[in-house]
This record gives sequence, structure tokens and C-alpha cells, in this order.
Amino acid sequence: MKKLTRADYNGYKESLKEIEKIRQSSKRPSLCMHVCCAPCSIWPLEFLKDFDVTIYYTNSNIYPSEEYWRRLNELKAFLKDHHPEVKLIVSDYDNETYTQKISLFKDEPEKGRRCIMCYGLRMNEAYQYAHDHHFDYFTTVMTISRQKDSKVLNHIGMQLSSKFPNTKYFISDFKKADGNVKGNRIASELGMYRQDYCGCIYSYNQRHSTE
Ligand code: SF4
Repeated sequence: MKKLTRADYNGYKESLKEIEKIRQSSKRPSLCMHVCCAPCSIWPLEFLKDFDVTIYYTNSNIYPSEEYWRRLNELKAFLKDHHPEVKLIVSDYDNETYTQKISLFKDEPEKGRRCIMCYGLRMNEAYQYAHDHHFDYFTTVMTISRQKDSKVLNHIGMQLSSKFPNTKYFISDFKKADGNVKGNRIASELGMYRQDYCGCIYSYNQRHSTE
């Protein structure tokens, strides 16, 4: 198989091709999806209706702890009301250790090396779970975000897939074809809580220093 690199594929087209292949087969695959918050999960859950989806919530990046629980509780309420078929797995929350790790790049701007490390840490843990529990696919909702480069996220996912060969990485670009707009519209209609900063203490401080 031709090795995919950052530059030579379109995440949205790849996702459509994969779904088309699945529709032509008789199998309904399992997919483990890393989710960071409820609003970001809305459109990906619609898009992935051909899969049996399990959500893996690993987001020790989120500061402060009240915010972590608020995002998690919003996700639980959304799933209960709109996707009771989706199973939710929640990993341990340890913001102190996590912040120590990413503090190496604390002065980097958003989308810089701190963020790349942060995507990789969370995707690695969730992908490990998917692999250990024999899921057919793994993906992350983070490609829905306009603040995140889908090519970087997909590059990380493809690199991790060589470590977890039995679980295929589902390449995505959920923000495309107005995915981001549709998700935001539904979140507004549902009156869902939507945070105004990405998650870590550095993004929190940055957001609140400009108020
Ligand atoms: S800004 Fe967001 S992606 Fe970047 S390090 Fe902070 S929490 Fe992680």
C-alpha cells in the first residue's frame, strides 16, 4: 500500500472512500473515537452512522477540574438523550501530570509544538484502548475544529496506526462540507454548553488575559 504523507491526501475524500467500501461490504465495523467535548462530537456521530461507535474520553489537558467535569457531564447528557446506543469510556483525569508534560512547550502559540504533543498524547492513549479491545477502527473528533489542522491530526493517526496495526486509523476531516457549521448549529439549538478556550492552562490563561 502506498504510504500516506501529510501532503498527498485529502482527509474528507479519504473518509468518504472508506465509508463507501464499508457500505459495499456486509459488515458493520466497530469504531473507537476519541472525543474532547459534546459539541465536537455532534457531527462526527452523524457522519459515522455506518459504524458501531464507542467514545473514549481522555482529556487530562483540561484545566481547571470544574471545566473537565462540566465538559464530561455535557457529553454524558447529550449521549443519554440523543445517542443512547453509544458507549462511553472515561479514562483517569490527571491534569497535574499532563500539564508537566506539555509545559516543555508552554510558550508555544496554539497549533504549535505544545498542541501537536497534546494531540499525540491523547490519541495515543485512546488508540491503545481501541487496539487492546479489538476495535476495527480508531479516529478522533478533533478534525472538526477550525483551530486544528486535520492534516497534522491525520498524520499523527497514521503514524500511530503502525504501532496498533490491528485497528485501522479512520482518516477524517469532519469540518469539511460544513460539518463544523452543522455541528455548531445543532449545539446552539440544543442549548449545549460550549467552552471559549481549547482546554489546557495555557489556553485558559491566554483566553482570560485578553478579557
Ligand atoms: S491549546 Fe488545546 S491542543 Fe493545544 S496544548 Fe492546549 S489543550 Fe492541547
